[in-house]
Amino acid sequence: MTTLGTEQRPLWVAVIGAGPAGFYAVEALLKNDAQVRVDIIERLPTPFGLVRSGVAPDHQSIKGVTRIYDKLLADPRVRYFGNVSMGTDISHDELLTYYDQIIYAVGAQSDRKMGIPGEDLIGSAPATSFVGWYNGHPYYRNSQFNLDAHQRVVVIGNGNVAMDVTRALVAPVDALATTDMADHAIAGLRASTVTQVVVVGRRGPVQAAFTTPELKEFGELDGVDVMLDAEDFALDPVSAAQLAENKVAGRNHDVMQGYLARGLRGAAKSIHMQFLWSPIEIVGQNGHVTGVVLERNQLVDDGNGNVKAEGTGATRTISCGMVLRSVGYRSVALPGVPFDEKRGLIPNVDGRVIDSANRTPIERTYVVGWAKRGPSGIIGTNKPDSVATVTSMKADWESLQGIPDTYRDGAAVATMLHSRSAQVVTYADWQTLDVHETSRGAAQQRPRVKVVDVKEMLEIIKR
Ligand code: NAP
Repeated sequence: MTTLGTEQRPLWVAVIGAGPAGFYAVEALLKNDAQVRVDIIERLPTPFGLVRSGVAPDHQSIKGVTRIYDKLLADPRVRYFGNVSMGTDISHDELLTYYDQIIYAVGAQSDRKMGIPGEDLIGSAPATSFVGWYNGHPYYRNSQFNLDAHQRVVVIGNGNVAMDVTRALVAPVDALATTDMADHAIAGLRASTVTQVVVVGRRGPVQAAFTTPELKEFGELDGVDVMLDAEDFALDPVSAAQLAENKVAGRNHDVMQGYLARGLRGAAKSIHMQFLWSPIEIVGQNGHVTGVVLERNQLVDDGNGNVKAEGTGATRTISCGMVLRSVGYRSVALPGVPFDEKRGLIPNVDGRVIDSANRTPIERTYVVGWAKRGPSGIIGTNKPDSVATVTSMKADWESLQGIPDTYRDGAAVATMLHSRSAQVVTYADWQTLDVHETSRGAAQQRPRVKVVDVKEMLEIIKR
């Protein structure tokens, strides 16, 4: 029998999830001497994961990265099966039947909970769903965000997602309307009465997770003042040391000092950044959010060169009509695939998925991206992460028995997927939808007008 990875016996790999981490894994798989065929299986008709449905609409240039992914989709060694759900249309065991190796690139589809009373009141929502809503993710297009009956939104968290949702809430809508933001969100934001967003960090300005370009963008928004509380900048010794060492913290600090010095300019809208406060309860009336109770924190040395927030007992309540909880994403368990509930990811060693109980690698199964390492890093972070997993996969090729050669032409699995999904979306189908969206966009001087309903996407493709 010829060796695996040759023209006669190409290796077959399934990549589950068509986001950046999945594409970087495909790129690494194709860039080697072995003959590899890759099937990308994606539950949505559309590819590109968070580049399409996570990256902020006012950060269009970041979306240019899809040109690389498009080239991979066009490669004859790659097939795209959109609108196919792992778990319902194909199981983990079936994937093992048809593929030599499987990579889960499923990201983090859910949100972390804060575990405080009132989190489930109407008007309290994870920032992840607000992001999905304004980006036209089909699963969130019907989410309801009450934006026209109050003036203030509180955003909990100090990461870049908190920055993105804050901008979306106060940025001039005419500017957002030139982007690929979903039409329903543009309409919702046009009707919005929100004039202030309070961004609450549990630790200090030095420990904020956001990056400087995003912080600078706050100050560049037309008609928006940036407010800060000077007392939040009295630094404890550990924070002072961090500030001296950490370049991003230093740059952030300079920008925030600039905002403090600049003061208010009488703008109609404002962003108020408050540090050293933890939400301890979301309060409401008749089931709807009316405010957030915050407890003042002090920072204490955690003994590892960092600081943690510790409540002082002093509280304040901020009245608001909506709370967006932006405290991190979380992966969702897939049927038949190990899951670490505590860390909210697929347990693995160097990308090899391991059994949760005995911690040994399970058969021919790998993971990349946020499902592998947790929800951290920018799009580019996924490249070395995926390359590392593919390195593990290659190391395993030597001992790989592989699937029976009767499946090696890829026809059996294609037939099965077509029989399971209501309508498989191929790369050519996606190109049809892409042209539809971009031409609608061109007519409005926008990059694209997104179709946000799966049924409508499928109809456009059929037509
Ligand atoms: P993140 O960067 O991990 O930030 C999470 C924030 O939530 C932190 O400030 C954290 O504070 C806070 N937090 C966690 N639990 C909390 C609690 N119980 N109460 C109050 N605050 C709490 O996560 P993210 O903003 O979701 O972003 C995910 C990743 O995507 C990040 O790597 C981010 O940089 C990236 N991203 C990048 C961009 C961009 O490049 N423009 C845009 C969006 C997202 P502590 O630090 O105290 O834990």
